[in-house]
Amino acid sequence: MNELAVFYDAIDRETLDLINYHKQCLEDAEKSGNHDPEYEEKIIVLDQLIEHVHERVIQKKMLYEKEKQIESDLLKSRGHGDCPTCNDNMDVEIIGEEKNEELDVICDTVICKHCGTEFMNPMPNTWSDRLKLFEFIITSFGGLIDAENKRSNNTTDLQAFIELVEGCKKMKEAQLEVERTERDLWAAIKASEVAQIDLRDFLLMAKLQGMRWDNLDTFVN
Ligand SMILES: [Zn+2]
Repeated sequence: MNELAVFYDAIDRETLDLINYHKQCLEDAEKSGNHDPEYEEKIIVLDQLIEHVHERVIQKKMLYEKEKQIESDLLKSRGHGDCPTCNDNMDVEIIGEEKNEELDVICDTVICKHCGTEFMNPMPNTWSDRLKLFEFIITSFGGLIDAENKRSNNTTDLQAFIELVEGCKKMKEAQLEVERTERDLWAAIKASEVAQIDLRDFLLMAKLQGMRWDNLDTFVN
């Protein structure tokens, strides 16, 4: 089966059926000797409309893949945690979840696959909670770093905090960028859905009224 097939919804299928119906009518009229001086142009416009429908379907597939990717990245990262016994970032198995009341985020309870230690993975288990944690670290440690810098107290600990805050800023930006891309794609699909419903209704009216072709090219943009 064509892997795109599952992304065609009722509007796509109805629109394509109507476009193909109108193409067929034009071709039949040509064959029967009833020449339309704008035949070529009309066929080109109808083919362009078919392309538009396909583009929208491809966008829907892209959005689906993006969402899948976000989900699988999260799952992959939840498979690791800083084990307090191994003192390193280890492979872990998720066995439950726990709320960090102070930060109001949900974290996984995990078992280190190397040593069997059970602990709470401090990294929250959803992207929205992770953003909350990054924001908390940036705000609280960012202020501390500023205060220490003013006192010229540049210790190794401070350096570690600076790296932590910079790391959180980068992770936060990367996640926000992923969400922006997803949102833009979703908005584009919604906008083209409205345009496509208009097109479908226009083609349906044209079919019911026996082909009124005026302004069809306004849909090709
Ligand atoms: Zn361990």
